[in-house]
Amino acid sequence: MLTTRRQAIKTLAAATLGTSLAQFSTQAADTNSSVLVMPGATPAAPEPPPTGPYTMPPLPYGYGGLEPMIDAQTVELHYTKHHAAYVAKLNEAVAKVPSLAKKTNLEEMLKNLSAVPESIRTAVRNNGGGHYNHSLMWQTFSPHGGGFPPGDLTMPICNTFVSFEKFRDECVTAANGLFGSGWVWLVLDHAKKLSVMTTPNQDSPLSVGKYPLFGIDVWEHAYYLKYHNVRSDYISALWNVVDWVVVTKRYGLAMQA
Ligand code: MN
Repeated sequence: MLTTRRQAIKTLAAATLGTSLAQFSTQAADTNSSVLVMPGATPAAPEPPPTGPYTMPPLPYGYGGLEPMIDAQTVELHYTKHHAAYVAKLNEAVAKVPSLAKKTNLEEMLKNLSAVPESIRTAVRNNGGGHYNHSLMWQTFSPHGGGFPPGDLTMPICNTFVSFEKFRDECVTAANGLFGSGWVWLVLDHAKKLSVMTTPNQDSPLSVGKYPLFGIDVWEHAYYLKYHNVRSDYISALWNVVDWVVVTKRYGLAMQA
């Protein structure tokens, strides 16, 4: 009785929705014989990859918003392919550990990686770091960026690095000295002291007790389409899109914490 009804519904679905759905429902029936395909309904698909708890932050500008400093194609690929892949793989990793499957405080996880089960620790380090680093990066760029930070950040930068120009030079030197892929960071330490540091791969400064205020992605995917192998040209251009207002707010909040 049920089989007959199912066949009747399948026939109706095929007749009304065309062969593509008929093929789809046949595939579903192959993998799960109890699936009923209602007309107009989506047939059962293979288990989709986990979609949460981590999600992509909206990009605060269009793909071309940082042109000509960062080209639209690079921003699109960087956001929709690279960053999105870190989010997808992070969700896949935490889905394997029920106690973490709902946890959304990524900052706390990265601060204390040793508390993450060993089976997913490397995945969280790489993909959680990738998600956190890129989410921060998109916020700290703006089509109206560039120039100098507000005084609240310029003063401590000058106190630490002598001048804003010397701070930028230190970032470029650090970037050029970083072998392979990684990030250059302006960070605060526990004593609220500023410094420039690098991390390899997608490691977060949070994992070594530092608080990142601003990061420069020096993976080749961040610049190769436009700047090819010349990492320092990419960084020189990048200063023109840094939103120092956002970075200064981050500094102010961290100093109060
Ligand atoms: Mn990147």
